[in-house]
Amino acid sequence: MTGGSAASPERPPARSADCSRCLALCCVGPGFTASADFAIDKPARTPCPHLDPDSWCGIHDRLRERGFPGCVVFDCFGAGQQVVQVTFGGSERRVPAMLDVLEVLRPLHEVLALLDEAARSPAVGAEAAALVARVEALVAADADALAAIDVGAVRREAGALFDELVVAAHAGVPGEDLRGADLVGADLRRRDLRAARLRGALLVGADLRGVDLDRAELLGADLRGADVRGARLHGALLLTAPQLTAAAGDAATTVPAHVGRPAHWAALPSRP
Ligand code: SF4
Repeated sequence: MTGGSAASPERPPARSADCSRCLALCCVGPGFTASADFAIDKPARTPCPHLDPDSWCGIHDRLRERGFPGCVVFDCFGAGQQVVQVTFGGSERRVPAMLDVLEVLRPLHEVLALLDEAARSPAVGAEAAALVARVEALVAADADALAAIDVGAVRREAGALFDELVVAAHAGVPGEDLRGADLVGADLRRRDLRAARLRGALLVGADLRGVDLDRAELLGADLRGADVRGARLHGALLLTAPQLTAAAGDAATTVPAHVGRPAHWAALPSRP
């Protein structure tokens, strides 16, 4: 949301949230329930009470202290400014219709961010680049055409490419298969997770201090509150900025160059 996520000079501007070119759509559209991530209940399609008249978050610089870490972690991958500036031409304030489009564009922009990584792979780079071009053409369409996009079909096509990417990166020697595993709060410091398949794994609050995750697949893994201080994540596969922002790292944690290092890590204590 208007809190921001990890920044990287290697992340294309089109896949990076630019709240100055949006209308705080993510602070209006999604609903949330009071929890560890959000301090209040907010119905969907209702402006957050912390939103000021200029469409900026009034507590932007203290979201975590005020009980809104979920806002810090949220990332539209550039879909917000695409909706406002491209789909609606930058001048119309048609928020309900914009929210309809955002629900389509946000998942497509997330897929594009992951496909950017796949496009750098020698194994699937050409197919991934071709799919990037096709999806970029889709997201540039008008609101009516966007409403007709089968997002699930795009995800499935990209998912098949991600499988190929991971298999090729493991070069026939995959690590542990932990896809969808419940590892909430687990102490994984002595586990060999190199080349592990952690797609969709629940790693909430897991202890990953100092763990080498070289070539580990982290697509969709839930890293909220995971302790990654000193972990080697620079070679991890299919890891996104909001996943990393949800975890707690330090200066010794290595991260993929295309994802970037969350700014809030600098204020966290280093690994004991
Ligand atoms: S707390 Fe701030 S960032 Fe979160 S939804 Fe409200 S206005 Fe947006």
